[in-house]
Amino acid sequence: RAVAADVPDLIRKRASLAPADVALEEIESGRALTYGALDTRAARVAGLLAARGIRAGDRVATLCRNRIAFFELLFACAKLGAILVPLNWRMPPPELDLLLADCAPRLLFHDAEGAGPVAGLRHAPDGICLDSEYEAAVAAVSELDLRDSWPSESIWYLIYTSGTTGTPKAVIYTYGMAVANFVNIGTAIDIAGSDRTVNFLPNFHTAGINLHSLPTLIQGGRVLILPTFDAEQIVRLLEAERIDTFFAVPTVYQALLDHPRFAAVPLGRVRHWGCGGAPLPDRIALRCRDLGLRLCNGMGMTETGPTALLSSPAEAWERIGSVGRPQLLVRTRIVDADGNDVADGQVGELLFAGPAVTPGYWNDAVATRAAFTVDGWLRSGDLARRDADGFFHIAGRRKEMFISGGENVFPAEIESVLALHPTIAEAAVVPVPHELWGEVGIAFVLLAAGAVAPAKSELDDHCRARLAGYKVPKSFIFVADFPRTAAGKVQKHLLRAQGAPPGIS
Ligand code: ATP
Repeated sequence: RAVAADVPDLIRKRASLAPADVALEEIESGRALTYGALDTRAARVAGLLAARGIRAGDRVATLCRNRIAFFELLFACAKLGAILVPLNWRMPPPELDLLLADCAPRLLFHDAEGAGPVAGLRHAPDGICLDSEYEAAVAAVSELDLRDSWPSESIWYLIYTSGTTGTPKAVIYTYGMAVANFVNIGTAIDIAGSDRTVNFLPNFHTAGINLHSLPTLIQGGRVLILPTFDAEQIVRLLEAERIDTFFAVPTVYQALLDHPRFAAVPLGRVRHWGCGGAPLPDRIALRCRDLGLRLCNGMGMTETGPTALLSSPAEAWERIGSVGRPQLLVRTRIVDADGNDVADGQVGELLFAGPAVTPGYWNDAVATRAAFTVDGWLRSGDLARRDADGFFHIAGRRKEMFISGGENVFPAEIESVLALHPTIAEAAVVPVPHELWGEVGIAFVLLAAGAVAPAKSELDDHCRARLAGYKVPKSFIFVADFPRTAAGKVQKHLLRAQGAPPGIS
């Protein structure tokens, strides 16, 4: 391969251009790292990895809340050609064991809170505690720079999918994808070298690293780090600091809107409010509009690196319900079951291509083959339509669609109708087997704060006024909360596993 085509080490470049600019800042500890220091530390951590036997292509796992050391490890891996695998610290040891068997890391960096779960692992790799062992280990080695460039097609890190539909899959992230994401998100939200963003979504999900921390670092801006999401901490940060770009999933916006001081923070100081990762209920979009906050809904997948479609601030209020238009480097198609493109306005499966799309899953050729068409388009598994103005609307997940009496039913449509009822905060509809209709929908319902459960007949009437009869759920089950992924997505497969309540006719 032609080494001359590699991308230069962008952190080293930043360090040479503006070594004294702050790159990373931990809000809780007050610790900050300039670009010069980040580059030096990353080279030292690369020295530590090498001293522990890590070579190019080896996996290095993390099990930690967000912190400066995570980014040191990310860039250390880039200097060595090792592959970083951030693991979900919310997972119990048996789930972690499955992922560890899949990615087989040779070293695991964990925080103090992670020590307990690590002790419960059946096959724990060698571990280094970031709170008690890391600093001494870093001090004991010297800097190492085995290469000064990032080969576009090489693997930099792996991100496990949310596990919304089943077992998480490890999505390959290459250096080329990082550059493509930088172009996509950088051009969409105009990232500047003076920008400050917040890193609080977990770095074991793509949004933690990529929206917008890594693009901000590539551009020379500042990333303010919180260990995890806490509404009070975010509100305090928005009150005290200048934040230019902010990205969160809908459940985070819900929690912020419910915070008593959120409406009073100077929201206009944030230039770009991004939202995505899960369906955005109109209720949240409308509450943001009432506050004067232009919430830009976007759709992406771990596999698309991540943002594929995004609304602009100018469209945020007029296009509620849409996920915007394709990013600069993203190509899209919407196809029917035979793979033929459908006309505008028609629902079909959304396909993606472009340099921000993953080449596949780690160690899983079968899943990779299933995820792509023969000519290389990524099958999103989502159903969508493009309207006459070119804006995209997600109709639901293909895997969630079910057939009742020969009719296609999209749970997302029923869920948004249910969410219009004043007593309902959120609903999740899943199919259950039915003797006559094949499958019918049942609805799991989360009541709004302080609301009293309405009678079944009232919900029936509410749905029948807005939906065809075959779409109306046969049963409404009130729950305290749903099983959710870390991004707040409802894990429908777990609801389906609960099965039908008795007496559905
Ligand atoms: P798994 O693949 O393990 O089941 P997952 O599909 O939830 O998990 P992610 O990559 O985290 O994995 O999520 C991508 C999916 O999230 C998309 O395919 C889509 O279904 C959904 N999604 C993301 N953004 C939006 C949005 N703005 N509106 C509606 N759905 C969205």
